[in-house]
Amino acid sequence: MTVVKSVADVRKAVKAARAKGLNIGFVPTMGALHEGHASLVRHSTKECGYTVVSIYVNPTQFGAGEDFDKYPRTLDADTKLVDKAGGSLIFAPTDREMYPNYRGADGTWVDLVGLTKQLEGASRPHHFRGVTTVVTKLFNIVQPDKAYFGQKDFQQCRVIQRMAADLDMPLEVVMCQTVREANGLAMSSRNVYLNPEQRKQALCLSQTLTKARELYARGERNAEKISAAMRELIASHPLARIDYVEIVDHDTLASVAEINESSVAVLAVFVGTTRLIDNGYLK
Ligand code: AMP
Repeated sequence: MTVVKSVADVRKAVKAARAKGLNIGFVPTMGALHEGHASLVRHSTKECGYTVVSIYVNPTQFGAGEDFDKYPRTLDADTKLVDKAGGSLIFAPTDREMYPNYRGADGTWVDLVGLTKQLEGASRPHHFRGVTTVVTKLFNIVQPDKAYFGQKDFQQCRVIQRMAADLDMPLEVVMCQTVREANGLAMSSRNVYLNPEQRKQALCLSQTLTKARELYARGERNAEKISAAMRELIASHPLARIDYVEIVDHDTLASVAEINESSVAVLAVFVGTTRLIDNGYLK
């Protein structure tokens, strides 16, 4: 397993892999890797002969006052995890390598108009423009056959799938299941910010999804009733503060009134100062 920092070195390695007849899988990440990321790498190694993992904390997807500076950076541990999961190459570029010509907002941006203004986009106005731009650049650098994203970031995965379709990108974007701790907490690089009491209260995110599923299983189809029950459960946790709780259609990401098999409950909750997200289908 090799770690490279330049675009040229990625291209060289991918070219050599292709020359051996291997197909290319790609897992973009921001590092501080955990079992959720490892599952994406394993998914890729099952389907692709050569798996590239990028580790890059992309500044253009963070807003002012967000956690860009304190985002955990753990390249040595990440390298071991990718190696163990069967990855072939890590691309860990610098900002200069990724954005050599950008000057502030002056540069080329990929901006998806639909799907990005609600939910995460409402709370984080330039977030998705940063994501779609950096992922486009990474796709152009790696030129994978398949790219793997987690359902944990449901809206992000939908946005990338839509972007790839709209721009005729020649790859398949695969959504992989959310990996959780035994107690239900969705794994996240940001969980390290939580102290023990916050970690306990953070369980309210997955518990609300369980509650929503129970209500759905009992025949409730009114989205407002289910999201009200979810909000109530979160409100009973003093360290938790709701950013949004919604039930949306899995394609349009628009709120639904009546729940069906395509409905997904999505939520963002501050626990202390840490913003956590989770989601799940109700069926
Ligand atoms: P990040 O490093 O947080 O930007 O995440 C990189 C990729 O890993 C994204 O596609 C995430 O959706 C995915 N991911 C993060 N956490 C999980 C998880 N708990 N289970 C599955 N995929 C995840």
